[in-house]
This record gives sequence, C-alpha cells and structure tokens, in this order.
Amino acid sequence: MITVIGCGVIGLTSALRLREAGHPAQILAERLPPHTTSDKAGALCFPFKAGPPERCLSWASESLGVYSREAALPGAFVTEVDCLVLEPSPARDIPWQMTRLGPERLRRAEASELPGGYADGFVIRVPLIQCGPYLQSLMERFLAAGGLIRQASFMCLEDAPGDTLINCTGLGARVLAADELVAPVSGHILAVRPASPSAPVRCFICEGGKDTGGAPTYAFPRPDRCVLGGTAVHGDWYETVDPAIIHSIRERTVRIVPALANAEEISRYVGLRPYRPEVRLEAGRLPDGRPVIHNYGHGGSGWTLSWGCAAEVLTLI
Ligand SMILES: Cc1cc2nc3c(=O)[nH]c(=O)nc-3n(C[C@H](O)[C@H](O)[C@H](O)COP(=O)(O)OP(=O)(O)OC[C@H]3O[C@@H](n4cnc5c(N)ncnc54)[C@H](O)[C@@H]3O)c2cc1C
Repeated sequence: MITVIGCGVIGLTSALRLREAGHPAQILAERLPPHTTSDKAGALCFPFKAGPPERCLSWASESLGVYSREAALPGAFVTEVDCLVLEPSPARDIPWQMTRLGPERLRRAEASELPGGYADGFVIRVPLIQCGPYLQSLMERFLAAGGLIRQASFMCLEDAPGDTLINCTGLGARVLAADELVAPVSGHILAVRPASPSAPVRCFICEGGKDTGGAPTYAFPRPDRCVLGGTAVHGDWYETVDPAIIHSIRERTVRIVPALANAEEISRYVGLRPYRPEVRLEAGRLPDGRPVIHNYGHGGSGWTLSWGCAAEVLTLI
C-alpha cells in the first residue's frame, strides 16, 4: 500500500495519478479540504515564489495542459482567463514565468490597457481554478477510483503506515521531514462577490512595486468569488487578519479596477504559502528502509505545479 501524507492539492493530485495507474493508494492527513492551505489560494496557474525556474516551468506546462483540457468540459471548476500582468517599469525581457507560453497565450499589453503608474504589461491566457469545489471533486475522483482518505496526524514520517510513503505535507514538512528550508510566506486575501457578467472585473496581477513595500496586488475574478490580494511576508507564521492590510488591499485593487470599490465582502483570511527556495521532489529512503518520495515546498505555486509534480511522482515510484 502506498500512503500519501497530505490532502491539499499536491497530495490529492499525486494520489489520484497513482490510483489511476493501478497502485493501491490511501491518503492520510491531519487536515482535509476545506481546511487546507490549498483551499485558501488565489489559484491562478502562474508561477510565483517557487523554484527552481526550469523545473517549475516544465511542471507548470504539464498542469496548464491538464487544466485547459478540463476548462473545456461542461461544469468544470476551471476557467481560462486573460490576465493582465502589470510591470511598474519597462520590461526588457519576457518574465521567466511566461517563457513557455506560446503566442496564443501571451501578448504585450496595449498602452491603453495600462492603468496609471504602470509602464508595461503582458496579457497571458491561463487557467484560474475555483479551489474549494475543485479539491472536493479531486477527493470524489480519488474515492471513486477505490482510494481511501482518513484523518491522521504524524510526529515523524516513520510513524506513518504503508510500504511506500509520498510526503505531500506542505509547511508540515518543516517538522515531519526536519527540513528547516521550509518556511511560511504569509498572504492576506479579501474575497468579494463576483461582478455581474455585464460589468466583468479585469483579472490582473502586479508582483510588487515600491509603493506596496514589495507586496503583490491582484484580482482573480472566479465565477464563485473575486479574490483580491495580497501580501507575501517571508517567515511570518501569524494567521490573524490585520484590518489595515485588508484596507490597503481594497485601496490598491480599486486603483486598478475602480468597480471593486463597491464589491461586497464575502470573507477575509490569511494563508501560509509553504515556501522552500527549491521545491523538494525526489525519492529517498526512511531510516527503516522504506521508500519515500518527497513532494513539498511549492510556495505560491502549488496549484500551478500540482499536475506536473504528480506526473513526476509516477516516474519515481
Ligand atoms: C494567499 C495565497 C494565495 C495563493 N495563490 C496561489 C495561486 O494563485 N496559484 C498557485 O499556484 N498557488 C497559490 N498559492 C499557493 C498554494 O496554495 C500552495 O502552494 C499549495 O496549497 C500547497 O499545497 P500542499 O498540498 O503542498 O499544502 P497544503 O494544502 O497545506 O496541504 C498539506 C497537507 O498536509 C497535511 N499535513 C501537514 N503536516 C502533517 C502531519 N504532520 N501529519 C499528517 N498530515 C499533515 C495537512 O493537514 C494537509 O492535508 C497561494 C497560497 C496562498 C496562501
């Protein structure tokens, strides 16, 4: 039996690919959706705060293929969006995250599309995922394929049952795998009601500017909600919402999309991105000799990298 530890997007996609390939697999996790970090994401398929770049680009390409095929199906919890990526200063080169997008998915923004204060921009066509319903559908697919999901918490990897372990514990790997390279990058989110179809909200992201102290600003209009952000504070474990930051997110996003000024709030929260300078996706052995595959440390890109990493897990088993 293969035990996947972790039931966020990384554990679920890994477990599903294993099960589909005929492996007996179960998921054991301390928290299940809707209570994981994966539930809190903006969930745009675009790399942010993750490395190394080359591996991330190939994982992201695989995921993009999966999500865009799903987006074409009726009732999918994924939509393709044209996202405006704003640059505070003129960009000499295409940012590294866009280098594998073909011309059908990438163009330079017209000057008329740029809000005041932005010198440059690109428009990328990428999938945007409704994380809550999507995670529920992954659980249903895994159970329907004969998988088992149970709640369980472990102090160390050796305590987990199974012939082979897949460690998909995100930030939990700091303790579970004794890996001090894993650390949180906190992010505030303000979720508001989706705009009416007659006045759609522009999807945009700006990774940071001088006036935001390096914080990213974004609006991801999903059918179920419009997700506004954000912040990215390295080493911050604090999960209590700061009203001043929520106010600043509203102000920053309204400056770019004025219609958001009146958008009704649904919820506000803080999520902790499981950051590691490089994603750890590799096979090893536990001290008791059992094989383990580590798949954690996806930072602000877990949704973007998930299907690509799950495909690589299959090659390592
Ligand atoms: C504000 C914010 C915005 C984001 N926006 C995006 C975005 O636009 N695009 C994108 O691609 N990504 C985004 N992300 C990043 C993305 O959410 C994460 O990279 C992703 O959720 C990581 O998935 P995971 O499955 O590794 O971790 P998690 O979802 O945290 O799941 C970890 C699992 O491991 C379990 N676990 C941990 N420790 C133990 C233990 N000791 N014993 C048993 N179980 C354990 C947990 O209970 C949980 O089930 C965002 C994140 C945040 C916070």
